[in-house]
Amino acid sequence: MASSSYSNPPCAACKFLRRKCLPSCSFAPYFPPEEPTKFANVHKIFGASNVSKLLNEIPPHQREDAVNSLAYEAEARLKDPVYGCVGAISVLQRQVLHLQKELDATNADLMLYANNDAAHSYQVTSNSTLYNGEESNPGLILPYASPWNNSSSNDSKSM
Ligand SMILES: [Zn+2]
Repeated sequence: MASSSYSNPPCAACKFLRRKCLPSCSFAPYFPPEEPTKFANVHKIFGASNVSKLLNEIPPHQREDAVNSLAYEAEARLKDPVYGCVGAISVLQRQVLHLQKELDATNADLMLYANNDAAHSYQVTSNSTLYNGEESNPGLILPYASPWNNSSSNDSKSM
C-alpha cells in the first residue's frame, strides 16, 4: 500500500499545507504539484480556507476558471500591492488611448496627403506654379489648420 500512496504525489496545496492529499481533495484538480507558486500566491492573498469555501460554492465546470482568475489576481496583487490587476488594466487602457491617438494622427496624416495629392493634381492642370513653389510647406494649400500638426511642431511660446 505504501507504493500506491507514493505514486500519488500530493497536490501543491496539500504539500504547502503539509497535509495528506486525499482522493477527495478539492484543490488537487486545480493546483497540480508542478505549479507550487500558483497555490502559494493564492494562499498568501486569499487564504486557503476562503478558496476552499469558494470552490465548494461554485459549480464544478466553473471552478477551473475561478482558480485561474484567483491565481492571476493574486500574482498581480503581489506584483503591485496597491493596485493589483487594476494597475495592469489602467496601464493597458493608457496604451490603448495612446495608440488610438497615434492612429487618429496617422489617419489625419493620410487625409492630408490624400488632399494634397488631389489639390496638387488639380492645381497642376489649372496653375502649376502655385504648388511647385510651396513644396516645402504643403499645409498652405489646406483650407484649415490641422490641430495635431500644430502641437507636435515648435510650440507657440517662442515668438
Ligand atoms: Zn490536495
